[in-house]
Amino acid sequence: MGESGSWVPPGWKLWSLPGRVRYFVLGVDLLALGVLALAARAAPTPGQWVTAGWLAAAALPHLHASHLIERRRRDRSGTPYVDLCSVWIFAGAIVLPLVLELALVAVLYAHRWVLVNRFDPIRPPHRTVFTAATLALAAAAAVAVLRSSGVHEHLTGGARPGWADLAAVVAAAAVQWAVNTGLIGTVIAWTVTVEHPRRLLGSASDNLLEVSQLALGVFVALALLWWPPAALLMMIPTFALHQCVQLDQLKVAARTDQRTGLLNAIAWHEQAEHALERTRGRIGVLMIDLDWFKRINDTHGHPVGDDVLAEVATVLTRAVRRGDTVGRYGGEEFAVLLPDVDEAEVRAIAERIRVRIRALRITTPAGEPVTLSATIGAALHPAVPGAGLDEMIRAADDALYAGKKAGRDRVAVAGW
Ligand code: GH3
Ligand code: MG
Ligand code: MG
Repeated sequence: MGESGSWVPPGWKLWSLPGRVRYFVLGVDLLALGVLALAARAAPTPGQWVTAGWLAAAALPHLHASHLIERRRRDRSGTPYVDLCSVWIFAGAIVLPLVLELALVAVLYAHRWVLVNRFDPIRPPHRTVFTAATLALAAAAAVAVLRSSGVHEHLTGGARPGWADLAAVVAAAAVQWAVNTGLIGTVIAWTVTVEHPRRLLGSASDNLLEVSQLALGVFVALALLWWPPAALLMMIPTFALHQCVQLDQLKVAARTDQRTGLLNAIAWHEQAEHALERTRGRIGVLMIDLDWFKRINDTHGHPVGDDVLAEVATVLTRAVRRGDTVGRYGGEEFAVLLPDVDEAEVRAIAERIRVRIRALRITTPAGEPVTLSATIGAALHPAVPGAGLDEMIRAADDALYAGKKAGRDRVAVAGW
């Protein structure tokens, strides 16, 4: 609630979304409501209410304890939202009737909205509603798989479940994942320009996290059926999983240069050493240094210099081949490792980079054009006798220095 006492929903921007996204979002919300209305026709038994109570009792403290971590995850964009509620929601899909499962989704998301999202202007209410609706539909699809395969009856009927039941549980998990990723991926694909479509599916670690949650969810379900208080223990590994999300982000941050998004010098070095060990062919190293960069800062200001560095980083990532390693090596110095190249290819790639940096057209906020060039030193392994990575970098650096002395804006290759 606002300090003034009146409260305006923060950033209710549903109506400003592009037409098809708005209809899609509303359609998903309405479909989830429709499924809920259908499911509500069957009243749960008292025993099912008790099971749902145990599940909520385990889920809510976990979500409460980890909302700070969730909040820090917010700054990621362009990847599907990985929701750590999946442990509880998948457990619910296995043990609860559909109406209680949908109620659980509603309770978990209402809790989260009250605790976190309502303070977050970049996450307007309709997004929370949409996320809850996608999960509700995903859970409903999982419930459909589990009911049609008889898993629920086998687990609750006292019979010993078999391999077929395990296969059905895996299929239900896959369906839950696919529906959720499909619905959220559609909205991301329509609203965000994604350079690599595969990113719509999330990173490998996002998906490992999701699969881990689903696996834990199976054990929560077993506990709920046979020994409900034991489900409370699952709060602990779930919280640990939550911490892993943060660790993963820190790992990425530690390897990334914040200004350009490239690998930082340490990470580039590490990755280059790996590539050197793996590659059977020859390897090239480029050291790229922008010419007269200090003048750009002096003339246009440091922020313009920062923008130029980011533009150059984009040029570099687009000019190299898949599998080449690009890093920011120092202030206005970049390094590229090129596996499996010959001399002609090293020259060609370096020249392509030089020409594209030269062709960059950058205009300052004041409307002034910035012209730019770079000098590139190249070294090829093992043309440098007995060379490891450090020797190659030194050779490329020497070539770079020679290129600077010879007049800049050129490619200089070591040792030939
Ligand atoms: P040369 O052609 O000999 O390389 O000349 P130069 O001016 O590029 O080289 P010098 O080493 O004299 O200056 C590098 C400049 O790069 C100085 C420094 O302020 C600037 N710089 C380093 N890191 C950053 C950064 O992150 N942002 C900005 N805006 N400037 C940076
Ligand atoms: Mg320099
Ligand atoms: Mg320079």
